[in-house]
Amino acid sequence: MKELKKSVTASYSRKVNLAHYGGPQYESADFFASFSEELPIESDKETALKTYKRLHKQAREEVEGCVEELTSSMNKCSNCGKKAKNQDKLICAHCRKGFEGAKKNNKPF
Ligand SMILES: [Zn+2]
Repeated sequence: MKELKKSVTASYSRKVNLAHYGGPQYESADFFASFSEELPIESDKETALKTYKRLHKQAREEVEGCVEELTSSMNKCSNCGKKAKNQDKLICAHCRKGFEGAKKNNKPF
């Protein structure tokens, strides 16, 4: 006899605008995670809901972890490797100042 089971699935997805993190413009990345678990057929709604919440948390942590991993490398200054703010793109404010100063000095007259 086949044992009957209830299946609970939870998923989490997120679209990340890469330009926001200093990546290429107009490009986005999609992240998706889905977890499921089987419960005995006699499980009540409360158990199913608890399971769903736990699976959803797992999926969210998985996705957020991947987003963090991707964007943390993007947020680094390409010159000094220090963490740059979102609006700084690939060059931190400190290095940008240096570059702009150098540009000015190299200006031919
Ligand atoms: Zn820098």
